[in-house]
Amino acid sequence: MATHAVVIAGGGPTGMMLAAELALAKVDVAVVERRPDHMLVGSRAGGFHSRTIEVLDQRGVADRFLAEGQVAQAAMIGTTVLDMSDFPTRHPYSLGIWQNQIERIMAAWIAELPVRIYFGSEVTGFAQDDAGVDVELSDGQLLRAQYLVGCDGGRSVIRKAAGIEFPGWDPTRSNLIAEVEVTEEPPRGIRQDATGVHALHRLEDGRTVRVVVTEQQLGPSSEPSLRDLSAALITVYGTDFGVNSPTWIARFTDMTRQAAAYRAGRVLLAGDSAHVHYPAGGQGLSLGVQDAVNLGWKLAQVVNGTSPESLLDTYHDERHPVAARALQHTMALAVLQRPDERIKALVDLMSELAIMDEPRKRLAGIISGLDIHYDLGEGHPLLGRRMPDLDLVAPDGPLRAFTLLHDAKPVLLNLGEPGGLDITPCADRVQLIDAEYVGPWELPVLGAVTAPTAVLIRPDGYVAWVGDGTDTGLRDALTTWFGTP
Ligand SMILES: Cc1cc2nc3c(=O)[nH]c(=O)nc-3n(C[C@H](O)[C@H](O)[C@H](O)COP(=O)(O)OP(=O)(O)OC[C@H]3O[C@@H](n4cnc5c(N)ncnc54)[C@H](O)[C@@H]3O)c2cc1C
Repeated sequence: MATHAVVIAGGGPTGMMLAAELALAKVDVAVVERRPDHMLVGSRAGGFHSRTIEVLDQRGVADRFLAEGQVAQAAMIGTTVLDMSDFPTRHPYSLGIWQNQIERIMAAWIAELPVRIYFGSEVTGFAQDDAGVDVELSDGQLLRAQYLVGCDGGRSVIRKAAGIEFPGWDPTRSNLIAEVEVTEEPPRGIRQDATGVHALHRLEDGRTVRVVVTEQQLGPSSEPSLRDLSAALITVYGTDFGVNSPTWIARFTDMTRQAAAYRAGRVLLAGDSAHVHYPAGGQGLSLGVQDAVNLGWKLAQVVNGTSPESLLDTYHDERHPVAARALQHTMALAVLQRPDERIKALVDLMSELAIMDEPRKRLAGIISGLDIHYDLGEGHPLLGRRMPDLDLVAPDGPLRAFTLLHDAKPVLLNLGEPGGLDITPCADRVQLIDAEYVGPWELPVLGAVTAPTAVLIRPDGYVAWVGDGTDTGLRDALTTWFGTP
């Protein structure tokens, strides 16, 4: 039986991000992926938002995605674009890039890291005991791991086998999404009518058309066919444009559900296995990638023996509320897409509000993920919020704050008297950097905050302690987050 410290079920965006995080922390990690390779049939998600670009930047790989995508102001409420170009971030925009490109780039990244991947095999079940988890694969193999993480999508086998409840709201509407060829030139762009929202878009190859069409009635949970697509198009457009040669047809709904617990003993959930929602607002992939970045370093520290198992509970405590809020938000966005005169009145009202400064910033803060605030207690506004990517001056020269996070290790950034902080007992696990910063401290949505004299930054880029000229509370924060020296 092969053994690994952590086995991840599912090598989609969440599973690959988690694998990278664990590998960077030198954890023996394996991914079991049902597909024969990383090729994703169909383009699926259309990109991600600012905070996700930032977390990739924290690992030094954002440029790979930026080079293939197109930046744009794509956060929207109703029909109003929430322009966030004035947000204090290096990436005040969203990135338009198809999910199959995202997965290809991620796969190339994890191929550079020590990640074992079992392709063409499904996790079919598991049995956990006090010391670990036996993971059963469809090809008859059995893997032994200390922890198993279900990154296996909305229909998660891991979630079901762990007996984790998935409460929420049943679907009320469905869309077909497909990539096909056509014999008639279809109209481009978005159409909204009494059935819902529909869109036709010719892909870069000039041949394939991406179709999204709302179905008249809620479709069945079975796989849709070309006939279903053709019928839905005829209902909306009066023609099916001669759709043929589909490479991908799928159905998505506005079903909205969230796992009641993100952890059951040695089994954890991340990404779509923990939360599903209507894709309005384009937040699903971003949520999964950020789940992975929150969980990765914690799981690594528990596996490496530097932190107690209780650290894993902070993963649920921090990420469950973030997804719960995103779910609420997507339900509201989905309502705003309803083709009803009364809803249109609501959209107009929301548009009036959304162009005002304060509501625009608040809403853009939610969609971009830049306003995430983990509840780490009372204190400076930076506590529990993302560390800004400041331009620092270190003894060796200029340095971006995010560069310090490339290895996914915690950082104590001393901006006060050089040598003024001493963390010798933790020196093996936390990097202490003396640097200078002259400039404003500004957070998205909140605005200017008082300059701290030091910040303790977790590997996920969130601030765990803020210095005010003394080291009060630093020891406790170091022990809480990075274990007893
Ligand atoms: C039309 C549409 C548009 C979207 N647009 C956006 C967008 O613009 N922005 C955004 O952020 N999100 C968007 N999303 C959501 C996004 O696609 C998902 O949230 C994202 O794919 C979730 O990633 P994941 O890795 O958690 O799950 P998945 O992508 O579902 O990956 C799960 C992986 O697990 C594998 N697997 C499943 N079961 C097993 C098993 N038992 N054993 C082994 N492997 C298994 C699967 O093959 C798959 O590779 C959109 C979704 C849709 C449908």
